[in-house]
Amino acid sequence: MRPFSYQRPTGIAEALRDASGGGVRFLAGGTNLVDLMRADIERPTAVIDINRLPLGEIEETASGGLRIGALVPNSDLAYDSRVEVRFPLLSSALLAGASAQLRNAATTGGNLLQRTRCYYFYDLATPCNKRDPGSGCAAKSGLTRIHAILGASPHCIAVHPSDMAVALAALEAEVLTTGPSGDRRIGIADFHRLPGDTPQVDTNLEPGELITAIELPAEGFADHYSYLKLRDRLSYAFALVSVAAALRLEDDVVAEARIALGGVAHKPWRNPEAERLLVGRPAGRDGFDAAARVLLEGSEGQGANDFKIPLARRAIVRALEQAAAATPQSPTDKRIR
Ligand code: SF4
Repeated sequence: MRPFSYQRPTGIAEALRDASGGGVRFLAGGTNLVDLMRADIERPTAVIDINRLPLGEIEETASGGLRIGALVPNSDLAYDSRVEVRFPLLSSALLAGASAQLRNAATTGGNLLQRTRCYYFYDLATPCNKRDPGSGCAAKSGLTRIHAILGASPHCIAVHPSDMAVALAALEAEVLTTGPSGDRRIGIADFHRLPGDTPQVDTNLEPGELITAIELPAEGFADHYSYLKLRDRLSYAFALVSVAAALRLEDDVVAEARIALGGVAHKPWRNPEAERLLVGRPAGRDGFDAAARVLLEGSEGQGANDFKIPLARRAIVRALEQAAAATPQSPTDKRIR
């Protein structure tokens, strides 16, 4: 690990002041950043430990939603009774991610900022445009089992690893930030980026900008939801494909639909056209098949991950069927039903 300065401010203004130079990283749970620093992939010159900032509460909003402080641990968020009852899709996604120990340390803000698990990003002996811009992409001629089928670019085919972000995309959460340009509210759809020709930039955060909270709107789709995660083993593995499905039904007809995919692109993947297509139709197989086809339009495998396309199609249909049937999803039982 390379030398870096370390500050532990107690106020947000102080943290922003400390972050005004270049080469700064905010440290919260550290479950990804510290590993990356040890591996010499992240090389900050200054680390600002934000764990003393007052960002650890979950509060009601005036509009009936919840504001989740950026430092709320993933496990506290998943088991918060308000989240369990009103936003069970979010609880399910959080409990599908990582291990219990990691969820105890990882924070809400940090979860959004975790970096890809592309094998080559972590292997300093191979070229990687995300780690070392302009060096090339070893994955394109390498092992592509875990890589993207949507939204990839010639420069990077990595996927975003977060489960939480997929549920937040379906719930249309907003990310609240503060930084050198003041406070901002960023829709979750605009928070992460596709790789394009700058795969080294994962999000639309500005330098020195700090996530302070995530806000959930009032509608939590608590009656009809599913988070379906398909992976190589049942626990402690990243998604090959995941689906966050949320429906609002009126007499078994779809009044509103949200579908977000994980494990398939550089950011949680949605297509409003696929969701609109379901509205006004019976909540059944025909509509779900049609929505899956639209959602996966333009999908393209890299060879070893071609299987993800039919897998995603079936997962979308299954998740929508589970949501429509209000299939019980115990937070302590993560078996796929
Ligand atoms: Fe790097 Fe992206 Fe290529 Fe992986 S897919 S090696 S992260 S550029």
